[in-house]
Amino acid sequence: MIRDQLMARGIRDPRVLDVLAELPRERFIDPDLEAVAYADRALPIDCGQTISQPYIVALMTEALRLTGNERALEIGTGSAYQAAVLSRLAREVVSIERHEKLFRQATRVLNDLGVTNVRLVLGDGSHGLAAGAPYDRIIVTAAADTMPEELFEQLTAGGILVIPVGDRDSQILRRIEKIDGRPRITDLTACRFVPLVGASTCDTNQ
Ligand code: SAH
Repeated sequence: MIRDQLMARGIRDPRVLDVLAELPRERFIDPDLEAVAYADRALPIDCGQTISQPYIVALMTEALRLTGNERALEIGTGSAYQAAVLSRLAREVVSIERHEKLFRQATRVLNDLGVTNVRLVLGDGSHGLAAGAPYDRIIVTAAADTMPEELFEQLTAGGILVIPVGDRDSQILRRIEKIDGRPRITDLTACRFVPLVGASTCDTNQ
């Protein structure tokens, strides 16, 4: 995975490569999918959601340019794989998920893995999480039609937001840096994420 999926496609940051090499991705998915845990694709998780393809996790993480001192906000905890990656590269991570079932599973897996610097929040993160703002980094792992203005506002000066923008069929992964209060936008790649939405519909008893 590291060589063929990540390095071959230009992921260079050794810290990102090390974290993806070490983190047991199979712990974040259904045991039935263990054989394909490191496959070059997104995989289904509960509530009709997905754990992102390893390359996309690496690309988004690298794009955040973490040095270890940051407070980061993730919108869309899902399996908590991305949150666990961030936990090893940032000082503190806050991650919000709208589905209670995923939130509970995420709480369990991070606890089992001994991750202590991630705070999980159950709720709608489509407007960010103003209570803990500002954040040095914000990563959105579900696609928005346009960049929510509130997210940019919740960034520190010099902060970085990574977000997929577009409709269900056509999205672009963007890095938005806050330079002198203005956005500097870099398009990273075409991508396909589940949509960023509001209230939860997943049955918590499933
Ligand atoms: N980062 C995840 C990927 C999860 S897929 C991982 O590593 O597995 C995107 C997630 O965003 C889904 O779990 C979905 O429920 C969640 N999501 C979508 N809209 C949301 C919103 N408005 N607020 C919080 N979470 C949201």
